Amino acid sequence: MKYNDYRRQSREIRAGSLIVGGNAPISIQSMTNTDTHDIEATYRQTLALANAGCDVVRITAPDEESVRVFSELKKRGITTPLVADIHFNYKIAIKAAISGADKIRINPGNIGSKDKVREVVAACREMGVPIRIGVNSGSLEESILKKYGSPTAEALAESALYHASLLEELDFRNIALSVKSSDTQTMIRANKILAEKTDYPLHLGVTEAGAGNRALIKSSIGVGSLLSEGIGDTVRISLTDDPVNEIAAARAILDSLGISEEPGMDIVSCPTCGRTSIDLINLLSQFEERAKIEGLDRKNIKVALMGCAVNGPGEAREADIGIAGGKGEALLFKKGEIIRKIKEKDIINELIAEIKEM
Ligand code: SF4
Repeated sequence: MKYNDYRRQSREIRAGSLIVGGNAPISIQSMTNTDTHDIEATYRQTLALANAGCDVVRITAPDEESVRVFSELKKRGITTPLVADIHFNYKIAIKAAISGADKIRINPGNIGSKDKVREVVAACREMGVPIRIGVNSGSLEESILKKYGSPTAEALAESALYHASLLEELDFRNIALSVKSSDTQTMIRANKILAEKTDYPLHLGVTEAGAGNRALIKSSIGVGSLLSEGIGDTVRISLTDDPVNEIAAARAILDSLGISEEPGMDIVSCPTCGRTSIDLINLLSQFEERAKIEGLDRKNIKVALMGCAVNGPGEAREADIGIAGGKGEALLFKKGEIIRKIKEKDIINELIAEIKEM
């Protein structure tokens, strides 16, 4: 079954050249962590993110002066859609919308008077800029926190719907929603509530997930389980790390679910055991490194690296290319056939050479 056959049907919105929602591919987002006033540093990081495969780059806009980053980056050739991240200040939001931001992230309930919300909506409407409402468990309204006692899934969803209602009153529905929590279960349930109650595209993320394996696992479960049920239109994997690493993490999640727009190399490798007769652990890391260096890691093929002649041949035959280890050597498989025997020391070079020809 194709992903879009069971995907929640959300409304399409457009941020610059990118469509989010509907049947559009799940887009990958990240956020710069440079000082926005440092245009050069922000440009370099935005470019690095774009080159890594980021579809949307969010940049914080802490004051009115900072919004010039959007036009400056575009002047320098950045075509990746840019999102202005704004808290409270409606003037920054208006300025960002008319200065080249492709999307605004602001919560209308935090702007102040209705007139101010109206002014932001007018600017976004005129420029065709959507608004993302982003609710986090750490910044819920007092009234909602009081009602629910803590940032529950219901509280997060209610807050997002409340902010959306302020825009709907002005007949503005060019909206995306996000409800994020550092608690994976809460984030999952909050998104499920929104998925039932609205058709706005959903931006998924487990916030403050941390770093390393723990963060990756939290995000994979939170974002991955929702996507596996057809919920979600764009994702951000928050890592306490270089934002460029968020892109690889997001791609790995999409690849694992088979819903990546640009599927990469799928590597199958056995966990090794007492039967393993080649140095598979080392071979795998060498192979991953070489594949990346040679630019083969985004090639849409399945590669099997297996440690022995018992379970190895089965997996290697199923893959586009693979090896099954023997003593100091391995059998090389391609498209289900044994091609030849190769010496252990030549495995990486020969695999890479074969893959380059595929
Ligand atoms: Fe062990 Fe062979 Fe299975 Fe690898 S494929 S874990 S070496 S039995």
